[in-house]
Amino acid sequence: MAERINNYENTNRLFDRAADAIELPEDQRLLLKTPFREVQVEVPVRMSGGDIEVFLGYRVQHNTARGPMKGGLRFHPHVDIDEARSLASLMTWKTALVDVPFGGAKGGITCDPSLLNEKELEHLTRRFTTRIGLAWGLHTDIPAPDVNTNAQVMAWIMDEYSQRYGYTPGIVTGKPLALGGSPGREAATGRGVSIITREAARDCDIDLKGARIAIQGFGNVGSWTGRLLGAMGGRIVAVSDASGGLFAGDGLPVEDLFEHAYERRTIEGFGTGESISNEDLLTLDCDILIPAALGGSVTKDNANDIKAKMIVEAANSPVTTIADAILEERGITIVPDILANAGGVTVSYFEWVQNIQALTWDEPDVNDQLEKIMSRAYHNVVSVMKEKGVPMRTAAFSIAIERVAEAERMRGGF
Ligand code: NAD
Repeated sequence: MAERINNYENTNRLFDRAADAIELPEDQRLLLKTPFREVQVEVPVRMSGGDIEVFLGYRVQHNTARGPMKGGLRFHPHVDIDEARSLASLMTWKTALVDVPFGGAKGGITCDPSLLNEKELEHLTRRFTTRIGLAWGLHTDIPAPDVNTNAQVMAWIMDEYSQRYGYTPGIVTGKPLALGGSPGREAATGRGVSIITREAARDCDIDLKGARIAIQGFGNVGSWTGRLLGAMGGRIVAVSDASGGLFAGDGLPVEDLFEHAYERRTIEGFGTGESISNEDLLTLDCDILIPAALGGSVTKDNANDIKAKMIVEAANSPVTTIADAILEERGITIVPDILANAGGVTVSYFEWVQNIQALTWDEPDVNDQLEKIMSRAYHNVVSVMKEKGVPMRTAAFSIAIERVAEAERMRGGF
């Protein structure tokens, strides 16, 4: 029987495992698991053909104890309230783990952007912003890009919000540089993944130089991760996206592949490499597997066939809780999403700070600060892992939960 995936239940199971490890009292568990606010909007759009179509949009705001809420917007047919709750909760733990002053939120629109033309996408984004924007704010909730949303989508949101509430570039992060985006933001999640992969490979006795790396998903996160790990000496033996996959035992020419995918938004049509299915990529004989697409790609059905020594979760929730237990039993290291992909929200924090101060940092400064925060978070996680004798995911959640619990306790009110 296929594994039933309830995203929010999965995330709460991971929370509970860490809450057990730190012996968090029941009342605090309830408080920390419960979302702060959930907003759903109906978004009517007049399509190019003349008809009106009504889309559903969501924003789940999970926790505000440590600061304004922060998280991406996803445009995808699978977006629903359960997914948004799960991802919003992960954002709370992620921001706390890297210790940036935010809480978690997440949202999006249930739609298939590949079926929309540019004008329809813009109208949808703007109408969504007018309907849900009253729940956002520079010191309340700041959206960012996620699956199928990019700097252009953030620009439309910033413009629409600013028309209504006054010029507010800091209302979204991941904007184009011309509108107050931060140097280094586009690459930031992949850069963070590459920093954490470098550190974790060393601790797993994997020599990154020549290490065989497979990457599922070659959008923003996957392509930057591949490019930067390639530059560190990693051999990118396989990549895939929604169109299918490519394999080359000696390594794909990742710079050329990056350029190809950047221009065309797909790896389809790239001349080099044998084709490989997404399923086969996951179970390929390699050193490091990096899922960088959607949630739930490693399940109980394929966990026993994974051959990688280490999985780095560049995507959010790519490994289900059942698969997680199987992989742990098999001694495969899993570097959890809230650590591995926290580079994006870290540089989003830098962007927000720059917008508030109305100044711009240089890209080397952004990258240096990112390196510092990611390395610090990694080493904190490893020291808790050793101290408590728990897997890396439980260690990461423990640190994050303790920080949020302390903030809640100090603020009081319950
Ligand atoms: P994106 O839209 O830029 O790229 C998504 C990629 O996944 C595309 O290459 C797409 O073709 C591919 N894909 C979709 N369905 C697939 C399938 N079934 N099999 C294989 N590939 C498939 O999105 P992104 O921003 O790169 O986000 C990827 C993941 O990283 C998501 O889980 C997201 O939540 C997470 N993430 C993103 C950021 C960020 O800053 N963008 C930050 C943290 C985490």
